Amino acid sequence: MINKIRELFSSFMLLELVKGMALTGRYFFARKITVQFPEERTPMSPRFRGLHALRRYPNGEERCIACKLCEAVCPALAITIESEQREDNTRRTTRYDIDLTKCIFCGFCEESCPVDSIVETRIFDYHGEKRGDLLYTKPMLLAVGDKYEAQIAADRATDAKYR
Ligand code: SF4
Ligand code: SF4
Repeated sequence: MINKIRELFSSFMLLELVKGMALTGRYFFARKITVQFPEERTPMSPRFRGLHALRRYPNGEERCIACKLCEAVCPALAITIESEQREDNTRRTTRYDIDLTKCIFCGFCEESCPVDSIVETRIFDYHGEKRGDLLYTKPMLLAVGDKYEAQIAADRATDAKYR
């Protein structure tokens, strides 16, 4: 009963509205924080899930062993892999595509990979200008991995103790 009276009083006096206006007023006069993107960036977690990359080992050999776990686990069916056996009897992909227009950046591909090959980087400011630009092929993914390997490796090392 007391609660009902309190609710009635609160709605009659528009208390929620007043609280909302007070909050707006507090931030209206607070110091403004403007980040001058892209020159300035806000702090980012090492677990950020942005643009994908395929990694190599330090000797240049690609990590991916074409097990297709990432393709199987992807809930958006965004990954397409084809593979063949090489002359040294190892298996490698001949095609590794990620359709970023389908990807929901869940990180399952990264989690499923047994060799830390497919990863998601901190890159979020990429774009496509025409149809197909966001279909990332194996050479494109390897190029991202090559370019950002230092950052990728540092982020994996930071997160290693929690995995
Ligand atoms: S992040 Fe998720 S949706 Fe995107 S490719 Fe990986 S598994 Fe698929
Ligand atoms: S990226 Fe990893 S999970 Fe996907 S096929 Fe290659 S080794 Fe397997």
